[in-house]
This record gives sequence, C-alpha cells and structure tokens, in this order.
Amino acid sequence: MADILLCPVCNDSYNHIYRHEIYPVLGTRKYTIACGVFDVNYDKKAFGVRGFTFETYYQCEGGHKWMQTHQFHKGEVFVETEVIDARDSYDEDDFMDDIWRD
Ligand SMILES: [Zn+2]
Repeated sequence: MADILLCPVCNDSYNHIYRHEIYPVLGTRKYTIACGVFDVNYDKKAFGVRGFTFETYYQCEGGHKWMQTHQFHKGEVFVETEVIDARDSYDEDDFMDDIWRD
C-alpha cells in the first residue's frame, strides 16, 4: 500500500524530491544527497538530534517548498512536516533540480 504525499500549502500531488539530509545518532555530521551531490559535512544541528533523522525536501509544481522529517527515537518514529516557502513561485529557472535528473 502506498500513499501519495500532498503539498501542505496547496494539496498538489505533484511533489519533486530535491534533497535528502541525514543525521546519524550522536553524530557531528550531516549527509546530503541532492542533484549531483553526495556530501558529508560537519553540522552543528547534528548535536541536537536525539535519534537517527532523515529530512526530505520537496517542491510542488506550484513552487511551494516544504520538508518532512522522520526521526527515530526509543522505538518510535516521529514525523514532522514544515513549510519552507509558501509563496506561489513556480518558475523554470527557480525550480529545484530533482534528484532523478542527474
Ligand atoms: Zn504546493
């Protein structure tokens, strides 16, 4: 069974993944996967992460940018959605590169 994610701003079902950020437990590093990018960097935010955390970044075809966090902590998974940019800003030049395009 699969669900289709909807943009939290406009309910559009056409959402493009353009970035993943991964924070291991008790780490000091962040792993980033994006179009043409696989990086491992020191990141201050990693100190505050209480469980293994995945952040997935989306942009709907209306231009809204949002992210969803999955955080594992003591046997439970917390899912949080955050709107990054709610402006209607679809523009070919502004559109993020999907991960699958590289
Ligand atoms: Zn949207």
